[in-house]
Amino acid sequence: MKLFVLNSGSSSLKYTLYDISNGIREIVSGLVERIGEQDGAATLLHEAEKEKLAAQVADHHEALELVLRQLRNHGYLQAFSDLAGCAHRVVHGGTKFSEPILINRQVLDAIEALIPLAPLHNPANLEGIRTMMKLSPDTPQIALFDTAFHHRMPEIAYRYALPETLFTQLDIRRYGFHGLSHHYLRDEAAGLLGKTPEQCNLITLHLGNGASAAAIRAGKSIDTSMGFTPLEGLVMGTRPGDLDAGILLYLMEKKDLDAEALDQLLNHGSGLKGLCRTNDMREILAQKSRGDQQAKLAFDVFCYRIKKYIGAYTAILGRVDAVVFAGGIGEHSATVREEVCSGLEHLGLVLDTAKNRKFTHGALMIHHPESRVAIAAAETNEAMQMARESADLLKKRKNVVQS
Ligand code: ADP
Repeated sequence: MKLFVLNSGSSSLKYTLYDISNGIREIVSGLVERIGEQDGAATLLHEAEKEKLAAQVADHHEALELVLRQLRNHGYLQAFSDLAGCAHRVVHGGTKFSEPILINRQVLDAIEALIPLAPLHNPANLEGIRTMMKLSPDTPQIALFDTAFHHRMPEIAYRYALPETLFTQLDIRRYGFHGLSHHYLRDEAAGLLGKTPEQCNLITLHLGNGASAAAIRAGKSIDTSMGFTPLEGLVMGTRPGDLDAGILLYLMEKKDLDAEALDQLLNHGSGLKGLCRTNDMREILAQKSRGDQQAKLAFDVFCYRIKKYIGAYTAILGRVDAVVFAGGIGEHSATVREEVCSGLEHLGLVLDTAKNRKFTHGALMIHHPESRVAIAAAETNEAMQMARESADLLKKRKNVVQS
């Protein structure tokens, strides 16, 4: 039984093929980049073979046909109709979706209706779904939502202090994102702690180009730093995170900025890039070590914001079993982990510097024996999380059909 996990963006498509016959085993993964541009490329990634095909890829249909050709050439999959299921990542599930769901007409319409809340992401996710439905109409298609893990946050965490009608009429509330990653990290941390997820209180930090923190009590997300959109919270690659909304009013008036200009500023021109001209943390660390003051400031602001969230989430959780670092930066940068944890000894966090530097992959505890709170560094794996949830759903469906 094979499961295809798809993350489809507007100009790229990432996939992983799993064998789900007996447990869940990754077979191969790959990506198609620059869809719709002159110089598209499909890359098949595998430990033993890495193959890059340069090709002009007009749309998601051509991209998936190219992927299938590659998979077939290497003997991984003969036809999409051989799949037991296809899982699709969908960024925004609104208030409607709290679980993975088999896609039918109503689900498609509901995802479409959420486009105004995620104009950059949901249309591209839908494109992937519709294309797979055309290519393999009999394969069960499953939607998994980035908002779902945060769906049961309490109202005090998800409500903004705005007029009630904005909530009731326009659904303006906090949703939270990166849910597949926070969910996966919860289970990784529970494994490291030797507990069930329901026994764990955690602060999970997904620090990539997009960055978010989650407060997890008894296995459930009770708060998270991203809100109505993925703009809120931590400092990110090109987004500012928390911001005084008054700045936007000021810019509209003083600089005559319209919605498009503000969108550009907030989504693409701020964050680490706004502070020091690059959003690549590796470059920032290199510049900082050469004495560049702007890079140092960007690094400091980035880490300071994370510290504040750890403090806030410790306050609401009471007991914290572990703080988990993940995402491109959280996983790879021992320097960021060291700076974030420094000075948080009063909250019970004491890093073991040697263990911290030793972490390379997988998941590892990196705290000192004296630390009251465990600290972990981990690779996140959203595709694996999608595979686990989809395999469960397909199993339940099979049971329903059989009984
Ligand atoms: P995305 O959110 O786009 O998936 P990633 O999770 O891949 O992003 O994270 C990208 C970030 O991780 C970039 O800022 C990159 O510089 C940073 N990063 C990757 N490798 C390292 C490393 N070895 N040291 C520090 N930062 C790293």
